[in-house]
Amino acid sequence: MSFAARHIGPSAAEQRRMLEAVGYASLDALMDAAIPEVIRWHDGLDLPPAATEEEALAELRALAARNTVAVSMIGLGYHGTHTPAVIRRNVLENPAWYTAYTPYQPEISQGRLEALLNFQTMVSDLTGLTTANASMLDEGTAAAEAMTLARRASRSRSQVYVVDADALPQTISVIRTRAEPLGITVRVVDLDAGPLPDELFGLHLQYPGASGAVRDHAALVGAAHEAGALVTVAADLLALTLLRPPGEIGADIAAGTTQRFGVPMGFGGPHAGYLVVRAGLERMLPGRLVGVSRDADGARAYRLALQTREQHIRREKATSNICTAQVLLAVMASMYAVYHGPAGLRAIASRVADRAATLAAGLRAGGVGLAADGFFDTVTALVPGRAREVVGAAAARGVNLRLVSDDAVGISCDETTTPAHLEAVWSAFGVPPVDPVAATVPLPRESGYLTHPVFDSHHSETAMLRYLRRLADKDYALDRGMIPLGSCTMKLNATTEMEPVTWPEFADLHPFAPAAQVAGYTALISQLEGWLAEITGYDAVSVQPNAGSQGELAGLLAIRAYHLSRGDTGRDVCLIPSSAHGTNAASAVMAGMRVVVVACDADGNVDLADLDRRIADVGDALAAVMVTYPSTHGVYETGIASLCAKVHDAGGQVYVDGANLNALVGYAKPGRFGELAAGGLSGADVSHLNLHKTFCIPHGGGGPGVGPVAVRAHLAPFLPSAGGPGLVSAAPHGSAGILPIPWAYLRMMGPDGLTRATGVAVLAANYVATRLREHYPVLYAGNKGLVAHECILDLRPITKATGVTVDDVAKRLIDYGFHAPTMSFPVAGTLMVEPTESEDLAELDRFCEAMIAIRAEIASVGSWGGDNPLANAPHTAGMVTADEWTHPYPRSVAAYPPGVDREAKYWPPVRRIDGAFGDRNLVCACPPVDAYA
Ligand SMILES: *Cc1c(COP(=O)(O)O)cnc(C)c1O
Repeated sequence: MSFAARHIGPSAAEQRRMLEAVGYASLDALMDAAIPEVIRWHDGLDLPPAATEEEALAELRALAARNTVAVSMIGLGYHGTHTPAVIRRNVLENPAWYTAYTPYQPEISQGRLEALLNFQTMVSDLTGLTTANASMLDEGTAAAEAMTLARRASRSRSQVYVVDADALPQTISVIRTRAEPLGITVRVVDLDAGPLPDELFGLHLQYPGASGAVRDHAALVGAAHEAGALVTVAADLLALTLLRPPGEIGADIAAGTTQRFGVPMGFGGPHAGYLVVRAGLERMLPGRLVGVSRDADGARAYRLALQTREQHIRREKATSNICTAQVLLAVMASMYAVYHGPAGLRAIASRVADRAATLAAGLRAGGVGLAADGFFDTVTALVPGRAREVVGAAAARGVNLRLVSDDAVGISCDETTTPAHLEAVWSAFGVPPVDPVAATVPLPRESGYLTHPVFDSHHSETAMLRYLRRLADKDYALDRGMIPLGSCTMKLNATTEMEPVTWPEFADLHPFAPAAQVAGYTALISQLEGWLAEITGYDAVSVQPNAGSQGELAGLLAIRAYHLSRGDTGRDVCLIPSSAHGTNAASAVMAGMRVVVVACDADGNVDLADLDRRIADVGDALAAVMVTYPSTHGVYETGIASLCAKVHDAGGQVYVDGANLNALVGYAKPGRFGELAAGGLSGADVSHLNLHKTFCIPHGGGGPGVGPVAVRAHLAPFLPSAGGPGLVSAAPHGSAGILPIPWAYLRMMGPDGLTRATGVAVLAANYVATRLREHYPVLYAGNKGLVAHECILDLRPITKATGVTVDDVAKRLIDYGFHAPTMSFPVAGTLMVEPTESEDLAELDRFCEAMIAIRAEIASVGSWGGDNPLANAPHTAGMVTADEWTHPYPRSVAAYPPGVDREAKYWPPVRRIDGAFGDRNLVCACPPVDAYA
């Protein structure tokens, strides 16, 4: 059987039955009717023909073999680490964790929410600050978000942000990228050499510095506060098990990465960044925040705090665009802390510090000078004129060091460093070995951390295994059933696609390893970028952005840089339709643009007359239009080609948000939209794609993602990878470690399989729309009444007539064994269903029948009154087995509604969660032990 037939759920016979229901003779006929001819691509995809799973793995093995796994002592925020095998197999390689969705439906997400609460507790304890969020994309972007947080919170009117010259170079670059469009001036200052500038709103310190130096920052923090500035400390969490934490010297914010807590380097990512703030700033924190609340019985329950969706993405008033984060990796890092506990982490850190001290002792004894006396894991050796020679000699011994300059070499120890590695380094420097010495770190930490029992209960492998299983069992992921989330494309994440991710040749490479050691990655990335360019009709692609939101920012920055490069300095307006995803407007704001909203017409399409008016109004200020295609309403709009032409005629650029590419692959190319039409209308100029939607990277419970940016030739010089406006992610290839997943998907599907997947995705959405239309109005449709790859069910008339809300339906679906569709996006009071091509007909029918049965329950609400199975959903096992049952409907209706297999019943661990209670009583770390009494 071909891989495509494994990936695509419905068999040929099932597809025929679905086509019959929708009223088309073939997939081709359906797609001919659905997709406007003006954008239709008829020439196929120029991609290699499908490989079998075995062939693809063999090719990946050959690519992996072209990478060299050396001993990495480069440091700079990326360190060797031992991923505990129990965590690797039971989290990173376990679909119960990696196929879960973002925990917007908290009742079915208690396991990952608990793990994320552990993560937040770990970060706040180690940094000595109060409130941590549930992960950032990487250290560089976390530091950039800290800068904008400082700008919002500071009382200083200065626009100057001061950055420690000993900060990580990639962090400085990401900060500069983010600062420039916002009018912030970044001043990189050698803080050893002189005082702070008088005027500043924020200060970024690195602790320990990139050089390894551990400095006492207390006086600088005081001076910055006196100037009205906020202080961010980018701190190494492992170092903080031994060193005085930033919270104890009054830092306002800490940012960094949790990579070395058991997450492989992966040639740069994915890893969980962190961001944590002192008391008083928690309501300004970007990203997702897990908090404690209570359910309908008053039991403790977790959910995302301060928001249903990201509260900082307030469209044109946005302060951040972060959406998809790094949940899977945050879970891994938190479990590393749970497994080792405070004493174990301290022991690991001490071993690392002892290695570094021993290394330094040997260098000193051999007459090599060191840049600093106080350090944790990293030393900078001073070898005037000899640095290249030393780095080369170490490489010849299988060890990568950091070339700081012609005169200095950086060497970082980590938990994988052995005495043999130290000997190789000494030998590269030409100094004799010395006996091990014990480290005495500067600024030793006196306070405790990780005192919550969860960090002291799961140290045996048996206990850890069971804890991971217990949490995973609380959650509903794709391994249990369909997750029909509109706009999120929760399709199969095939095991063959996942396997290479943990191969050492992909997992254990440092992002700044020498080019000769990463030939396999270089080839894989350039093939993947080429294939994505072919699929989208663009000329160049960069995989650096590590989420869709970051791809948006990169694309808009490219547009901005393009206009500026032509001396077109007044173009700063981005037109965005009212139906757009919140990240679009947020990214435009971050790219220094003003957002002007374009209306949608009654059919949900971009209102072209309103577009004309807006274009006329903004005149020469038009920078771009940003549209999603097919629209977030799930419709192939016929006006897209003329929309492109109107904006181009007015001097603007066209950004097509490619999150919905699952409805286009093989049938239309955004970069070529309308090109073939009479009159030669032009296509879009730039898109981002979401490899964690269309191209099978699993959602991970809310990340990782990859959001490549694809552009036409005129924008190519402005891509981040082309040295354009600067880095948008810390690592040159972003989350490179998961790129084998989309590579394998494309390689195994081939051009025909990919095109068929699109067709079946559209067929499945139309099948669901056809079956449900008589029960729930389908809000929008395009050509011939067809939807694209998703459909919006309009609950508003039902809510008006019966009081039953989208929330009630979503929670009742849990009792039926389903994850809810997307709620109230893009239209409040509706559900958006995206079945994808991977669900077979039986699962599609099970979903439709559940929705139909729920409609019948809604019709009976009148007879039950307020105490009905919808209002009380979801029902827990505890509730339905309670000795007393007072509800007017039977227990069997609560627990086993029609179609539920009693042997495969999913039981939610908590009843409906009261979000508002938790927001009023914000608790974002593990509650103290007495709270468990
Ligand atoms: C998912 C999505 C995004 C944002 O992508 P992230 O990876 O979550 O940042 C943007 N636009 C649309 C239409 C989306 O569906």
